[in-house]
Amino acid sequence: MNSMTWTDDYITPTYSRVNVALEKGYGYYVYDEDGKQYLDFTAGIGVNSLGYQHKEWVAATQNQLSQLQHISNLYYTKPGAELAKKLCEKTGMKHVLFVNSGAESNEVAIKVARKYGHKKKSNKHKILTLSNSFHGRTVTTLSATGQDVFHQYFDPFTEGFDFVETNNLEDLHDKFDETVCGIMIELVQGEGGVIPLDRTFVEEIETLCEQNDCLLIIDEVQTGIGRTGKLFSYEHFELNPDIVTSAKGLGNGLPIGAALLGEKVQHVLEAGDHGSTFGGNPVVTAGANVVLDTLTDTFLNQIVANGELLKEKLCALEEVQSVSGLGLMIGVIFKNISAKEVVAKAKEEGVLFLTAKEKLRLLPPLIIDEQAIDEAVNCLKKILKVEAGVS
Ligand SMILES: *Cc1c(COP(=O)(O)O)cnc(C)c1O
Repeated sequence: MNSMTWTDDYITPTYSRVNVALEKGYGYYVYDEDGKQYLDFTAGIGVNSLGYQHKEWVAATQNQLSQLQHISNLYYTKPGAELAKKLCEKTGMKHVLFVNSGAESNEVAIKVARKYGHKKKSNKHKILTLSNSFHGRTVTTLSATGQDVFHQYFDPFTEGFDFVETNNLEDLHDKFDETVCGIMIELVQGEGGVIPLDRTFVEEIETLCEQNDCLLIIDEVQTGIGRTGKLFSYEHFELNPDIVTSAKGLGNGLPIGAALLGEKVQHVLEAGDHGSTFGGNPVVTAGANVVLDTLTDTFLNQIVANGELLKEKLCALEEVQSVSGLGLMIGVIFKNISAKEVVAKAKEEGVLFLTAKEKLRLLPPLIIDEQAIDEAVNCLKKILKVEAGVS
């Protein structure tokens, strides 16, 4: 098959790919070049929130394509303006800056925090992040990522980051000082292994930020846009973040990133401080408007219900050791089989899953229903060769 040989021959091998060439999708299914159907519990790594061939999303992006595909941020266009207004109205944030990816939205957050800090005091430029975090692949967001494996080969890395052990209050107090201008956290660490933060730990971070004029930055690149059953996961923790970063699920498959800026920081960046040629492109934002419009309270409540149902069914499997996560962002550890092995076997059975560290990671499109949940769980049952303990 050409897709595989040409990919292996001509694309730099920075990914370990699953041995399947996908051609199209419909709803929560994707199809390979031989027409084999797969239930998709990856959603393009938490990206395809509305699944495949979502009618309104396709219509909105196609319509925009036929009108004006791109014009740069030197001019005004409606789709981006509308999306920024919706994001602000739904969150209470004041301004939005559009970019093209998660890493770039975190770069914006870092620049805003540094400029905010510099204006207070010349050495207030340190940003704290957490062990096991993941914030992106650019040199600076790698530097911000609290995992040693990412701090190799590409040095010198960007200075000014320090790492607090996740959920460790004592370490938080040890690492915090008056040079800290921001604390950046994921509320459920995604790539780090679907690890939710402790409420007391998160509350202490918010208190420290409030008391020391330091910015609370929530990386919602994976957890945002309904993934955990709220528009943004910080709503579960009742936080008032200064900066929220978004990407993955916002575009439903077209590249977009957004940094949402709260009252304290809405005027920090001025003309010339940042820019992006494609950021907030009309086609991408036309689609993202449909994503936001689809995430009604009813839709979000359905995500919560489906997430609970899925967790319940997973917990009932004899071979399952533990289940973590929030909403439709779920991690599973098995007793006698590795997540990697489960992914390979499930692919043969026609279901696609992800891993995160040693866990099986489930990030289905947000449109899944009970039938999809049953299909995924039955596939796991078959692989684990066990009957569910309770029905
Ligand atoms: C995926 C991810 C990123 C990086 O996003 P890209 O679009 O790949 O740059 C950053 N932070 C978190 C929490 C992510 O899950």
